[in-house]
Amino acid sequence: PSMLGILGGGQLGRMFAVAAKTMGYRVTVLDPDANAPAAQFADVHLCAPFNDAAALKTLAQTCAAVTTEFENVNADAMRELARTTRVSPSGDCVAIAQDRIVEKSWINKAGLPTAPYLAIESVEDIQVELSPYLPGILKTARLGYDGKGQVRVSTAEEARAAYANLGGQACVLEKMLELKLEVSAIVTRVSSAQMAVFPVAENSHENGILDVSIVPARIAPALAASAQQMAQSLAEALDYVGVLAVEFFVLADDSLVVNEIAPRPHNSGHYTLTACLTDQFQQQVRAMCGLLPGRTDLLSPVVMVNLLGDVWKEDGREPNWDVLAEAPNAQLHLYGKKQARPGRKMGHFNVMAATADEALEQAEALKDTL
Ligand code: ATP
Ligand code: MG
Ligand code: MG
Repeated sequence: PSMLGILGGGQLGRMFAVAAKTMGYRVTVLDPDANAPAAQFADVHLCAPFNDAAALKTLAQTCAAVTTEFENVNADAMRELARTTRVSPSGDCVAIAQDRIVEKSWINKAGLPTAPYLAIESVEDIQVELSPYLPGILKTARLGYDGKGQVRVSTAEEARAAYANLGGQACVLEKMLELKLEVSAIVTRVSSAQMAVFPVAENSHENGILDVSIVPARIAPALAASAQQMAQSLAEALDYVGVLAVEFFVLADDSLVVNEIAPRPHNSGHYTLTACLTDQFQQQVRAMCGLLPGRTDLLSPVVMVNLLGDVWKEDGREPNWDVLAEAPNAQLHLYGKKQARPGRKMGHFNVMAATADEALEQAEALKDTL
């Protein structure tokens, strides 16, 4: 069987490896962590830094196709791999998703709205009139996730001080919008003719980290369809190959604004593991191999609850998983991480019910009893 390679062996790499193995492929994972969650499902674990020349050469020479589980890989390394083997998404697309300034300009170029923002590449850029972006959020252009690298500012003085505090690195100052809801749409694209988009998820966050996804999102069907359409047109504009997640804000007037993209399966798509005809990791495998995307039909309303290290007991004991085992409509998924830390994504569970509201009520009750 063909060997598939992935850069990164976290939980997304692990779920990718499970899907690929189930579909009959062999898997090579590149991750410097000997205990990487994906390692136990990999046929080959290249335990080396992401820029390790020998490891990248092995990936190029032994893998029929290579993908990534996170955006902060070296885009040049991906371009280099692409000289020898199939690489998706492309290094170019990953580079776009790595930098909020580049990302937002692509989103706008594709004809889609973002929050009003100011690109700040040097200290001169922030000496302009800032009122169109205030109150706002100053976000580092690179390397931010789970709300890290973000400062909320209400005045120009605060914005300039926060920029200096971040060490003068490139940032965007984004106007704080009043959000009615947040939703996401995940699209799989192999070519213009071969695209599939998952049902839209409604996402709620806790301390900047995804907490719960509710599917179908409790928005008008036409609005959901328009989010799906926007995600697809963005994938088309980027000539994207692979799984692309698009996060949206729903504003008070029911308009949609693109927040950001992720060039990979997404936490808000974990519901697809139990509730869709094809899940997002199977789609990743299909797309990287140039196969048709699978059907994305929703089999049941579903709610996904993230399990962060915070739900572990003070003394490190695991939560009481029995309550989930005793709920026949719940599925627990643990990522095999040994150390639980606050904010660390340890697992998730999906609850299926007749309606999204019912699934949400049960999911919250279950979480409370863990
Ligand atoms: P992720 O882990 O999703 O990559 P991130 O660190 O890249 O997160 P963002 O998605 O930019 O961060 O922002 C995190 C959250 O902060 C958003 O989901 C939203 O709740 C809030 N937020 C971000 N930008 C804005 C904005 N312009 N107006 C209002 N709320 C915002
Ligand atoms: Mg992000
Ligand atoms: Mg986000």
